[in-house]
Amino acid sequence: MAGLLEPDAALAQVFAAVPPARSVSLPPGDCLGLVLAADATACTDLPPFDRAMMDGYAIRLADAGAAVELLGEIAAGDGADRVPLQVGQAYPIMTGAPVPPGAEAVVPHEQTRRQGQQICLPERIRPGANIVPRAGECRAGHAWARAGAVVTPMTLAAALGVGAAHLEVHPRPRVAVIATGSELAADPSAAGQIRDTNGPMLGAMFQEAGASVQRQVIGDDAEALLAGLQSISDADVVVLTGGVSAGTHDEVPGVLRRLGAEVLFHKVAQRPGKPLLVARLGRHLLFGLPGNPLAAHLCACRYVLPALRRLARLPHIPVSGRGVLRTTLPANSEHTWFLPALIEGGSVLPLLPFSSADLVQPHQANAYLRLDPGAVEAPAGTEITYTRIGVDAWAR
Ligand code: AMP
Ligand code: MG
Repeated sequence: MAGLLEPDAALAQVFAAVPPARSVSLPPGDCLGLVLAADATACTDLPPFDRAMMDGYAIRLADAGAAVELLGEIAAGDGADRVPLQVGQAYPIMTGAPVPPGAEAVVPHEQTRRQGQQICLPERIRPGANIVPRAGECRAGHAWARAGAVVTPMTLAAALGVGAAHLEVHPRPRVAVIATGSELAADPSAAGQIRDTNGPMLGAMFQEAGASVQRQVIGDDAEALLAGLQSISDADVVVLTGGVSAGTHDEVPGVLRRLGAEVLFHKVAQRPGKPLLVARLGRHLLFGLPGNPLAAHLCACRYVLPALRRLARLPHIPVSGRGVLRTTLPANSEHTWFLPALIEGGSVLPLLPFSSADLVQPHQANAYLRLDPGAVEAPAGTEITYTRIGVDAWAR
């Protein structure tokens, strides 16, 4: 059909419509996978005291090559309130323990020799050897992480190390998923009824991408859908599935009109997922995905997940690769065709045949192939590009 929006133009429109990122202050343990919204500054010195880096002896440099008398041991966790170390003495000290006042280096056990009650030190000792001085890694007030960095488990550790009680981050996107359809019954054994498979699938995809998700199921009833949409107050993104085409009971476009939504586009030159609708509804970015499960999946992968990443200010890392077709890929006709495929090692198995209602065959897919309009048949053995299915696979 001429005049339909092309898939790449549709994705560009989605990106342009992503709402501004919010920022919140959260305890470091709640920030994993989130992006820093501001530089993080250290609250305390790291390390908080001069720290021994070896099991050995805290010594004075003047005693290099001499035998010294041993004082009481200092273990990790002990306080540093010791009698200052004098020439001719050494404290046995453990890794992680605070270095006592007066000590100028820590000499490891294996570089010393026992001589009665004393130990003999090596001839050459580097000043400061095996001691990390207080604040040697990071001083209180220093900006130790920059805005835009993703909080990893190591970032969490660093935040705790420098005493951060909170980090300023872009929070998890909040997504409201509404599965629409009067066939989605609580009792799927009743005639004509089916299980809602899209709602849980989409919820799982968005959760996997780090979003917090709330779900509803609503029949093909304009008033109920209107009320359902009006009840959403705290979502950044609303994702509807079903009811977005031109059937008598496809209530989504009409309800969005009544709510005054700004429809950015409706229908994309792609299969599956041609009926896709994207709109702005108040502060929300709204996706109307088709009800057919494979179409809903493709649209969520290709349009919703990249929008969620953009909203969370996560970097875009396309996960594509090239492999060799195991079977023939048919020619494509007028619309861009996204075809599920199983990638194993370097081989690509297109999961054919399928309709956009399929669930069971495509569940094995770990990638989509993209066939442009007019692409000719490709025999087995042809090299082809694929895009992985995953939280950031389509973001580019
Ligand atoms: P629709 O987009 O509403 O025309 O629905 C297209 C097809 O997808 C129909 O066969 C619906 O029964 C089916 N469908 C719609 N919503 C869901 C859902 N949440 N779970 C499973 N199938 C659905
Ligand atoms: Mg329907």
